[in-house]
Amino acid sequence: MKAQVFHGPGDLRLEEIAIPEPAPGELLVKIEAALTCGTDVKTLRRGHPVMLPRLPTVFGHELAGTVVGVGAGARGFREGDRVVAANSAPCGGCALCRAGRPNLCEDLLFVNGAYGEYIALPARLVERNVVRIAPEVPAARAAFAEPLACALQGIERGRVESGMTVVVFGHGPLGCLLAMVAAQRKARVLLVGKGGWRLDRIREARIAECVDALVEPDIPATIRAATGGRGADVAVDATGEPAVWERAIEVTGRGGTVVFFGGCSPGTTVAVDTRRAHYEELTLVGAFHHTPGLIRRAVELLESQALVPDGLLTHTMRLDGVPRALGMMARGEALKVLITPDG
Ligand SMILES: [Zn+2]
Ligand SMILES: [Zn+2]
Repeated sequence: MKAQVFHGPGDLRLEEIAIPEPAPGELLVKIEAALTCGTDVKTLRRGHPVMLPRLPTVFGHELAGTVVGVGAGARGFREGDRVVAANSAPCGGCALCRAGRPNLCEDLLFVNGAYGEYIALPARLVERNVVRIAPEVPAARAAFAEPLACALQGIERGRVESGMTVVVFGHGPLGCLLAMVAAQRKARVLLVGKGGWRLDRIREARIAECVDALVEPDIPATIRAATGGRGADVAVDATGEPAVWERAIEVTGRGGTVVFFGGCSPGTTVAVDTRRAHYEELTLVGAFHHTPGLIRRAVELLESQALVPDGLLTHTMRLDGVPRALGMMARGEALKVLITPDG
């Protein structure tokens, strides 16, 4: 089979490799849709010791497909089942798993291999984080389950409720998904991004009210003006820039919550106004990854069409297009690229 194999930072190769055999407990899945992700761009540039511990490995982590082989003892699936697989599986036994926070599992097993024709899903993933999808759901839409579950985690951490005003920073795919989840919960959503085709597209798709950071000289003042002086109930950073984390704190009103969703470069820090944090009871929370429960909730939202993310797919390419797709992502020329092995 053909696959895009990651050998190290900057070294992605289209190779002909053997179709894996499903070991006991594993599923062999024929991939129908894989999606590019901002994480892929970062990982290709600098590697990822946690997500890609062993090299070489087939790259990519957002996928949907059909089960074509069932390893001995793998329960709950048959050949022909259409499935989405998350990109990790928690251990279920560590202190954080037992505390109901499996996204913080001390032994999270990461799974890669979306940019290939087939993938063998490891037994632990099959047990905990592979979900069947209804026949009528297109694979390209189902493959959004993983990033959508991340967005659900961000919105859960912000305790977003109907009627709140949520400010999302970032006009990338995850900024869009966060905005869509908040809107689905009947919050009012303001999205702060840099003007350009992506912000235009978000505005046209009515995903959120848009604030152009390149035009507005004073974002906190703009947000205050848009909220009757109160500021945001919840602000979410989806840029991973420390300066924007600080801006997110600034736009949040009394009693509000700031969600640090975008991961910043290692070693960076931010300043917090201690007076505001204390007297205004700001809640500052991180949001990382997703849980098996949120992967299932994401699949439900996609199946019921309560949330339809198809508009975030801006391009479709074959496996040989992955490097070009990731280059376009890096340059802000694509939101998400659908990779279809069969073309
Ligand atoms: Zn992703
Ligand atoms: Zn665990």
